[in-house]
Amino acid sequence: MTEACPHIDAITEVKKAKRRECEECVKLHASWVHLRTCQECHTTLCCDDSPNRHASKHARASGHPVIASAEPGERWLYCFSDDAFAEY
Ligand SMILES: [Zn+2]
Ligand SMILES: [Zn+2]
Ligand SMILES: [Zn+2]
Repeated sequence: MTEACPHIDAITEVKKAKRRECEECVKLHASWVHLRTCQECHTTLCCDDSPNRHASKHARASGHPVIASAEPGERWLYCFSDDAFAEY
């Protein structure tokens, strides 16, 4: 893993999505584009291309900076607080 930021460097095991759906969009009956999984609390939420942008809202509201892509075949982490990106 490349040295992206302290938050990404601290991750030793990437949390994978428990379910392939945005937990908040499901409640709203909304749709999403891509899914991201919070590496602090293991919540899977939708990306910034989605109408509700739940992953970035969650990162700001909760202070959980790092997400992993939950899309099949994508192996990367992103830190909102440092705007840092790393593949794994
Ligand atoms: Zn960071
Ligand atoms: Zn959502
Ligand atoms: Zn979280």
